[in-house]
Amino acid sequence: MVYAGFSALLWSCTPSAPPGPTTGHLATRPAVQPSPANPSASRPTKRGAVATVSSSGRDHVTAAPSASAALPIIRGPAPISVARAGTLLFLDEAPPEAAACAKESSVQAGVSCLIRLRYGAHPGALKLAIEWYASTGSVAGVEEAHVMDGGWRGKLSLVPELPVRHHRRHLAWIVSAYADFNHFFEALGEPAQRRYHHQPIALRFFRSVGRTTPSAYAHPWVIAYNVSGSLHRGPDAVRETLFHEIFHLNDSTRGDWSRKHLTPHYDAIVARCTGQGRLSTPCLRPYAPGDTVVRGGTYYAFQPGNGVGEYAAEIATRYYQEHRRLLAGKALSRPPFKCGPKPNGQVWSMFVDEFFGGVDRVAACP
Ligand SMILES: [Zn+2]
Repeated sequence: MVYAGFSALLWSCTPSAPPGPTTGHLATRPAVQPSPANPSASRPTKRGAVATVSSSGRDHVTAAPSASAALPIIRGPAPISVARAGTLLFLDEAPPEAAACAKESSVQAGVSCLIRLRYGAHPGALKLAIEWYASTGSVAGVEEAHVMDGGWRGKLSLVPELPVRHHRRHLAWIVSAYADFNHFFEALGEPAQRRYHHQPIALRFFRSVGRTTPSAYAHPWVIAYNVSGSLHRGPDAVRETLFHEIFHLNDSTRGDWSRKHLTPHYDAIVARCTGQGRLSTPCLRPYAPGDTVVRGGTYYAFQPGNGVGEYAAEIATRYYQEHRRLLAGKALSRPPFKCGPKPNGQVWSMFVDEFFGGVDRVAACP
């Protein structure tokens, strides 16, 4: 069984080097980065029958005619249908009672019916899943069992894992993160909200057998979330990791904007900070949007193999961090990213215009 709308894994945000000391506020993020041209994952089409992931089948997100010349409206993900919710929640094992949900009078009633059916034995998680759907249209389902090529780590066995019992905290953190996102975009203003979408999301919970990677990966408009992911250590880390993943979804629906527009700047930074065939972490520091350093490597944004999309996702997260503080009436905890060396200011400006409707509450640089 192949679920509708599935596309190739585009971003796999997971630590990329052997265990060891880290610097920075998070453990590590990606390195394994399957691409549409080289999907490094396989999944079962039916129980036990493994097929390579196809690169086709993206969800439909299209640019709509502009309501105002200055700010074209970019449509977000489509609402999740009852059939899609059934697949997310039950994979190919829906119980007979699920058929009654399809006869409900509305999509909302039908999807809520399915959520109640799936989480019925777990009242705490059920309350969260219903709340999340009601407030964001997002559905907390499960990933299909499949094997992911983890590069040097070898094959990673990923299995579906509902966020219940001791995993319920992950669902609570996600619901809380989305409440924060909704408040954030509301406070930021309508233009930004129209251009950067974060819901509804199809969330697929999984567990990596005997491992803690990947923490998450995304493809439009799906985020796969590992209940044993090394990055998911608390609500703040989960909120920022989700914002990072959500950037990838928006970047993709804008035609891989970061690759097309930021590559010259990114390549110039890498060239400037490369000596004797090695990247200099101290040299990269003022250009790195985030603190995350890959174990045995360098800043996550510039870790070889990650690419410009991860640099961009880190800028998105930095935008969120800085504006979240400012909107809460707090001073920034460190100098603004845009006030660093060139090209930080130029890249920030391009980013703000493209994804956040030109809204930049950070004070002008001295
Ligand atoms: Zn990423």
